[in-house]
Parts: sequence; structure tokens; C-alpha cells
Amino acid sequence: MFKKILIANRGEIALRILRACKELGIETVAVHSTADADAMHVRLADESVCIGPPAASESYLNIPRIVAACEITGAEAVHPGYGFLSENARFADILDAHGIAFIGPSADHIRIMGDKIQAKETAIRLGIPVVPGSEGALRDEAEAQAVADKMGYPVLIKAAAGGGGRGMKVAETAEDLPKALATAKAEARAAFGDDAVYLEKYLSKPRHIEVQVIGDGKGKAVHLGERDCSLQRRHQKVWEEALAPTITPEERERIGGIVASAMAGLGYSGAGTIEFLYENGEFYFIEMNTRLQVEHPVTEAVTGIDLVVEQIRVAAGEGLSFSQEDVKFAGHAIECRINAENPLTFAPSPGRITYYHPPGGLGVRVDSGVYQGYAVPPNYDSLIGKLIVYGRDRQETLARLRRALDEIVVDGIQTTVPLFRDLANEPDIIAGNYDIRWLETYLAGRR
Ligand code: ADP
Repeated sequence: MFKKILIANRGEIALRILRACKELGIETVAVHSTADADAMHVRLADESVCIGPPAASESYLNIPRIVAACEITGAEAVHPGYGFLSENARFADILDAHGIAFIGPSADHIRIMGDKIQAKETAIRLGIPVVPGSEGALRDEAEAQAVADKMGYPVLIKAAAGGGGRGMKVAETAEDLPKALATAKAEARAAFGDDAVYLEKYLSKPRHIEVQVIGDGKGKAVHLGERDCSLQRRHQKVWEEALAPTITPEERERIGGIVASAMAGLGYSGAGTIEFLYENGEFYFIEMNTRLQVEHPVTEAVTGIDLVVEQIRVAAGEGLSFSQEDVKFAGHAIECRINAENPLTFAPSPGRITYYHPPGGLGVRVDSGVYQGYAVPPNYDSLIGKLIVYGRDRQETLARLRRALDEIVVDGIQTTVPLFRDLANEPDIIAGNYDIRWLETYLAGRR
């Protein structure tokens, strides 16, 4: 096992990784920008290294500085968390060249899945069902028209290099197609420096269902069931559940089995998530994330398995601590992403937290790096914490969520807590009756 791990991230996820390291008896190194000198992960780590100014490009995304911090402290492995360098194949390669372990999959697997066209081709080859669409990148407008005519409208143009919902444009009719194609290409070029786009059938009212997998890199892979992340605003997840309210045990076993054997066939190493859209009883692959996800705690709640511990074990060559037969699902879990934002306009609300009281009690987990007196810096994304609530069934979990949301106090800044108080009382949410359009429609009606 590793003796010392460097955590190349900040905020709640840095703390989450630190907790797993402590339980495994591994020493921790925190890296931080000057804006994060007072962060909780820096306080709780065994050692810390300041790696630069607030701008992420000069600190959390600066590979030479992170490698230097490993060299200085003697860290043998790096956990990248999510975001920042977590899906950067070059970073994985550079660490490898320095004899430092990257806690994540191989650089090749990151590369394949980072290109959505290649990812989709790989999914097809591995027997994973995909959204009908163009075969690979679109050559020109004529090809786009031909594919769309054959499949029927509406269609979606998506960037191969896409992420965060950028480079994605819907064409409702053939007349819309040239403009959607041009806009998606221009956006993709500006955001990713790569204007390759492809075309997909636009599903009208799907749910977003994703399957958690973990592989040992030696041909063994298991699935840990699914999460429903349909409640999204601007393609960003807001509220996540495990297991999904609408997926039957038979469907879970079928799709989980497909995904686990695909990952075993690939020789995949570490944690990954296969994202699907789900409509009329069918799963359609959209992408794979080759990292730990923000919403991983809901899966941990219903399986009792610590995903970060397993990631570290796999990277250290110790293999998984469990097999597929050991995975037993129990209860229900919901996560709310608490952002430092105005709950109506979603404008960022950084600043000092003058009073903080986290909720507690049975079945309540708070993953957050904030504390009373902490100043949320304006330089990074606005996620300040995650409230994860667990119960024996979905209704018990919802009741517990309502009371946990009543307990939480964050003064001095605005947060999205009031939004969650409303959502937890919405009849559609209580009934589990929502799809990927639901939240946007709800928010539009509220204004
Ligand atoms: P990104 O990497 O930019 O987040 P994804 O491929 O993961 O892009 O898609 C993000 C979201 O966009 C999905 O969760 C879903 O809400 C929507 N979406 C993607 N593909 C389709 C599709 N074919 N039909 C309808 N909605 C889609």
C-alpha cells in the first residue's frame, strides 16, 4: 500500500479523499492555491504545499507544480478527485514518467473516453446500447441532412470533445440543421479547440441514469448499481438518487451486467461511470466519465462500499476488496448539491460564512469543506457542500431530507438550500415522477 498520497484538488472532494487516506493509514499531502490557504483540507492534511496563485491554470491545473510538490514531499501517488486534472491523459502520462501512481484508469482509457466519438464507437464494440446517430464525425452538412432525414427530427449535434453541456445544439427541423451544425462547431472550436461534431437522435423525455463501475485493471470489473441524475439545470446535475426510482431489479441486473463485462473486457482500472439516457424501457449510452463523480456518496450509502478506498486499493495493485456477489443494495439515498448561489437567479454568492450549523442525526452525511468564519473564494465553482441523506426506503429518505434541510444554517452568503426545501415538497419529486426536462420547466414556471 502507498505510504503517502498527494491530493490534487480542493474543497469537499479533497476532504473526502483525505478521510479515506486516514482510514487506510496513509499520509496525506494537500496542495492549494493562495486563495485556499485557510481551507479545511489544508488544515487536516499531514503536509501542505502552496502551488500558486488563485487562477486554476496557475495552481490546480499546473502539472509541473503538482509534480514538484510530489517530489518535495515524497508522495508516491496522486488522487485527482473530479474536475481539474482528473480526466487529463497527459497528466496521467507525466506522473507515470516520474514514477508516481495516478489513482485512476490508464491514460489510454482516459483518452478514448474523453473523445465522445471514440467513446461511442468503443461502447458499440463492447455491446453497450447507444443513442442512434451518425457513424462517427460528420463530414459535412449533406451527411448531417442525410442521417437526420433517415432518423427523423428532432436531432442533437454534439461536440466530440464536449463537456459541461457545451457544443450541444438541437435541430427541431431540417431548416434548423445548418444553423445548429454551425453553432455547435463554432462553440466546440472556441471551448475545446476541436470542432469535430456528431449527430444523435434527440430524446424528448428521457431520464439520466448512470451506472457506477470499478475495475481492478486485471480483467475483473463490478457494477454498483445506478443513480438517477435527471434533475439538472443547464445540463448540470442538482439532485441525485440511488437507486433510481424507476429501474427494476431485472433492468439493473441486465444493464449492470452489460457494463461490468464491457469494462472487464477493456481491462479498465479504477472507478468509472457509464452515463445513459433512459426512455421507454431502453438504455442509450451517452458518455463515460473515467473518474470519481460528485454524486458517488449515494452509491456508497446503498452499498456500504467506500469507493475512494477501492480506488486507492486498485491503484496500489491490491485489487478490489469485494466481488459482484458481495454487492447488496439496501435502502435509498438522495444527494443535494449545495452551491454558494442565489437560489432564484443562481448568481454566484462567494463571501464569508458568518454562522454555520450542519445537519446531523441518523442517515445524514455532509461532505463539505466549509466552517464558520470560512470565506468562500470567488475563483472556483460554487459547490460548497453536499447533503446526502439515507433511509430504508425513498419516502423515509425524503422525510429525513426535509428535516435535515430545516436544520442546516449557512449565514453570510446565499445558498441553494431554499431550492431544495421546495423541491423536497414537490408532488412530482415525491412521486419520483421527473425526467431531464423537469427542473428547467419547474424553474421557468417559478420566475
Ligand atoms: P456533457 O459531457 O457536455 O455533460 P453529455 O453527453 O453527458 O454531455 O450530456 C449532458 C446532458 O445533455 C444529458 O444528461 C442530457 O440531459 C442531455 N443530452 C445528451 N444527449 C442527449 C440526447 N441524445 N437527447 C436528449 N438529451 C441529451
